[in-house]
Amino acid sequence: MIKSIPGTKDILPEEIIYWKNLENIVHQIFSNFNYKEIRTPIFEETILFSRGIGEETDIVGKEMYTFFDKGNTSLTLKPEMTASVVRSFIEHSLGKLQPLNKLYYISPMFRQERPQAGRQRQFHQFGCEAIGSNSPILDGEIIITAYRILQKLNLKDLKVKINSLGIPSARESYKKILREYLRNKLHLLSEDSRKRFENNILRIFDSKIESDIDVVKDAPKLIDYIDDESKKDFEVVKELLTNNEIPFEIDSKLVRGLDYYCKTTFEIISGKVGAQSALCGGGRYDLLIEQLGGPPTPGVGFAAGIERILLACKNENSTTLPEESIDIFIIRIDDELIKEVFNIADILRRGSLKVEIDYLGKSVKSQMREANKLKAKFVLLIGGTEYKYQKYILKVMKTGEQIELSANNFLELQSLIYQKISAY
Ligand code: AMP
Repeated sequence: MIKSIPGTKDILPEEIIYWKNLENIVHQIFSNFNYKEIRTPIFEETILFSRGIGEETDIVGKEMYTFFDKGNTSLTLKPEMTASVVRSFIEHSLGKLQPLNKLYYISPMFRQERPQAGRQRQFHQFGCEAIGSNSPILDGEIIITAYRILQKLNLKDLKVKINSLGIPSARESYKKILREYLRNKLHLLSEDSRKRFENNILRIFDSKIESDIDVVKDAPKLIDYIDDESKKDFEVVKELLTNNEIPFEIDSKLVRGLDYYCKTTFEIISGKVGAQSALCGGGRYDLLIEQLGGPPTPGVGFAAGIERILLACKNENSTTLPEESIDIFIIRIDDELIKEVFNIADILRRGSLKVEIDYLGKSVKSQMREANKLKAKFVLLIGGTEYKYQKYILKVMKTGEQIELSANNFLELQSLIYQKISAY
């Protein structure tokens, strides 16, 4: 048997209803905040990600699906969306059309990580990028947008963590201080963290290993060393969250895995999804656009993992969706009537009704059973004595009532069925 690749998952029809519910909420809330949807290709030139995300990050260092196409160009399946959106922003000079572009997306992403609960190799994210303003109001707005989406999904066990990374020069001075602090504690750090000490020292704060956590517990805090402008912006974000009733806590160890962040960063975590608890994360990236060859333009955004959010919804039992049903099941008493039945179904479907018929040559009894199973609101019976007198029988499933309809005029039949359906 050919199976799906480890770390990828089929989303089966019974789950799709939850995905669509989430996607509808995402479209609705982003539209309320006047964000416009953007779609970019699944693969890009590898250099976009290595330059945009940073060579020293886990994503670029070990997780990308990179391959050469027949023209010997190095391509990569997108591991995140910010670099792609920024590439598109630059390529189409979107900044010239309007000073601020508020964009959102829903898309699959690809990272070659070790598959485990809440961590896949193909997963899906929704998120946004607001490009063109350095106002901290937008930092606050995107956190609120993410929170409102999770709230709309009825999630309760949420924690918003925020931090400020400062501007790069302030961060560089802090890195030196941290390096001094850790220098004589290197032997206590894990091998991974010792490597990070050399090439991406802030990422040591991301380590989940007990001994690493212990070593950095009392380290100097980045937030105490950031520049005045970042401090001021951070105050605005905090005030905005408080005014809009978003509970948050400051987490000075929140450094995020990607190189391009500066100033505000945030994460929203769930207490209901196990070790991989981050549902979404993001922050400001004021230098990325320039770094990728565009005009100096500030930006801020976040990405949220759909699989993890749906897992949180399941574990919190937060989503009650309406039961699926159909409008009409057409039962034929005589199998020879299939073409006529198909024709009526088509007319009703064109009128936007959800209609099912039998394709398996079932008996009348099993067709009725199928209609019940599909929770049909109505059954249209075709055949038998009534048929001889050019009549169909419409049965209202809720009440058992039977109504005779004239078979002569399909349009009349369609409008009669509408009338009956809207009456129930
Ligand atoms: P990141 O782009 O790494 O900041 O991730 C943003 C969000 O995407 C995370 O908070 C997760 O919810 C989700 N995510 C990231 N990597 C994975 C993965 N491998 N599998 C499933 N979800 C993921």
